[in-house]
Amino acid sequence: MNAAALQDSDQREAERDRIRLRRLRMAMLAWAVSLFITATAWALGLLRADYVEMGLLLTLVLASLLFFHVALRSGWSKRFRDPSMTLAHILFATLVALWVIGSAAEARTMLLMLFILAVLFGAFQLRQREFMLVTTVAVAGYTAIVVRDIVTGEIATSTELVVLELAGFATVMVWLAWFGSYISRLRRTLSRRNRELHQATERLQHLAEHDELTGLPNRRRLISRLEAAAQSSSRGGSGFTVAVLDLDRFKQVNDCHGHQAGDDVLSEFARRATALLRGADWLVRVDDTVADIGRFGGEEFLAILPDTDLTGAGMAAERLRKEVSDTPFNTCDGPVTCTVSIGVAEHQPGEGVHRTIARADEALYAAKSGGRNRVKTA
Ligand code: GH3
Ligand code: MG
Ligand code: MG
Repeated sequence: MNAAALQDSDQREAERDRIRLRRLRMAMLAWAVSLFITATAWALGLLRADYVEMGLLLTLVLASLLFFHVALRSGWSKRFRDPSMTLAHILFATLVALWVIGSAAEARTMLLMLFILAVLFGAFQLRQREFMLVTTVAVAGYTAIVVRDIVTGEIATSTELVVLELAGFATVMVWLAWFGSYISRLRRTLSRRNRELHQATERLQHLAEHDELTGLPNRRRLISRLEAAAQSSSRGGSGFTVAVLDLDRFKQVNDCHGHQAGDDVLSEFARRATALLRGADWLVRVDDTVADIGRFGGEEFLAILPDTDLTGAGMAAERLRKEVSDTPFNTCDGPVTCTVSIGVAEHQPGEGVHRTIARADEALYAAKSGGRNRVKTA
């Protein structure tokens, strides 16, 4: 991954972190409301729990919330598929709700609502299986409480009413699980589509700025790089030099060896020129900008040599020219010898980039009329 892509994925991860923390705060609010209701019910004598039991429950809940908070904040929970630990959190809330309901008598029906609060959070993350697990735990737990009450004869109302409540509760819970997993699936599809769209945009942007045959930056990208370099130089940054490279008598290469062999020469030239210019120690600068070379059109290439003066660029171009004329290209039609002419111009402060390119072009023209296979500086 390059630096820009890395920065992009860092940004997306930071955004996900923010969303998770926001959800955790929502969960804390739901806990605060539920605990308030529970404490009120207890204070009104509606819960069969003494001070010790209530104290234990509160301590357990607060410790767990602290745990969820620290696990998320510290990044420890990133080891899980769902760093929000939604399933664990909801299961814990379900068990606490069961305990509260198990110790409530008349207030039970009202307290059943607490389940809805907990299960709704599942819509953010839970899959259908996980929703079913939560529902099973809740319904089985509530059934156990009802059976216990019937066996011990501790029911405040009639058995029929209690069973009806249980049936109603089970229906609502199954409905919530079904509905919640539907929403959660929609959410996942949406975020996958978003990701795909983002990748497609990146691919399109790459295609729009690169040449298909050689993979090098195309004219559009070269011009925008040049304009950025010119702007930075006008703000007091370092200057740069432009080299226009044109393969000599390339039409003849096509005519003698075929278009495919011509394509092979272009691809190999792109590779060799890139390796030579970018790999050149004397061109690699402290601020990490390296020579950028792209396909300007047809058999013409353009190189931007940052922080390089005319002499340095002339030397680099000469080295490339020699290397090209000394080593034939490997093509589908066997080795092909091809030379390159290069025109070099140094960008002048305040000068438009098209003017710099035009001066490099004039130098190239001079190299061509001077007999080709040579470097000329403007
Ligand atoms: P000069 O030395 O004056 O530059 O001569 P030249 O033949 O290289 O220049 P000219 O501009 O007359 O011809 C360029 C040729 O490059 C013509 C065109 O068919 C060929 N060409 C342009 N793009 C491609 C390409 O993508 N693949 C192949 N195989 N040939 C290409
Ligand atoms: Mg040519
Ligand atoms: Mg040409």
